[in-house]
Amino acid sequence: MSLEDDVAYTCPYCGESNYVGFDASGGSHQRFVEDCPVCCSPIAFDVRVDEDGIPMLQSATRENP
Ligand SMILES: [Zn+2]
Repeated sequence: MSLEDDVAYTCPYCGESNYVGFDASGGSHQRFVEDCPVCCSPIAFDVRVDEDGIPMLQSATRENP
């Protein structure tokens, strides 16, 4: 079983569907920022891991510092 999973999301900037690599061993609730590979804009991800170890995307929003 792999510790790394891909989580599907839709980019809040360009609307493209994509996957982001996610390491479930980093905790059951993680927030992180990754650049969209299509439009290169920073996306703020909020991911929770359920009791089966499956990452569930809570939100993928625009990163506004
Ligand atoms: Zn994008």
